[in-house]
Amino acid sequence: MAELNQLIGALNHAADVIEENKQHLTELDGAIGDGDHGINMSRGFSFVKKTLDEGGFQTPADLFKKSGMALVAHVGGASGPLFGTAFLRASMALKDKTEINSEDYISILKAAAEGIKMRGKSQAGEKTMLDALIPAYEAGETALSQGKDTQEVLQAVKAAARTGATDTEKLVAKKGRSSYLGERSLGHQDPGAASTALILGAIADYFAA
Ligand code: ADP
Ligand code: MG
Ligand code: MG
Repeated sequence: MAELNQLIGALNHAADVIEENKQHLTELDGAIGDGDHGINMSRGFSFVKKTLDEGGFQTPADLFKKSGMALVAHVGGASGPLFGTAFLRASMALKDKTEINSEDYISILKAAAEGIKMRGKSQAGEKTMLDALIPAYEAGETALSQGKDTQEVLQAVKAAARTGATDTEKLVAKKGRSSYLGERSLGHQDPGAASTALILGAIADYFAA
């Protein structure tokens, strides 16, 4: 599916998509949080881009590790440490692989979700980024078990993440700032789930191009 240069390209594209959606993400967070998610993500991914530009990576794991450290170091708010942990877990899952295939990609997403669960003390159904990420890797696992090719796996992940994010409208927030709203969080999409769907969508689009 991808070696180092393509992963750099995919992450750069994800960073661009986050930047394009900065306002949208901030509006989502304005409705049920403190209105900074777009700003936090834009800032974090601008540092990821800087890290990517600096280069000098030995392996894909190294790339994810340095990107994750950039997110942890530069994003305030809940999302920085959580996305940072996701990237660091991805790095650990890759070990010294020089190339990743679609199975590796799904393993990365699963490892990232496990990291977020642990760091955020959160689980599926609490109206967070996990409600995009968990259905995404599950759809990827299903696609793999059906013998689908890399493009189909990536598209299945993208579609399930998008549906998962949209479906957070039906969930009551149990974690993070929006949990203070309780039932009033219903009818609104979780911003972290929305940004997760954007990132996974950008990765699928990059490899489809
Ligand atoms: P903050 O809430 O600190 O302002 P952001 O607005 O950048 O940070 O990020 C909010 C997002 O973080 C939420 O939409 C949600 O998806 C995610 N989030 C918050 N707390 C948790 C948690 N404990 N576990 C998983 N995700 C969380
Ligand atoms: Mg916020
Ligand atoms: Mg905040």
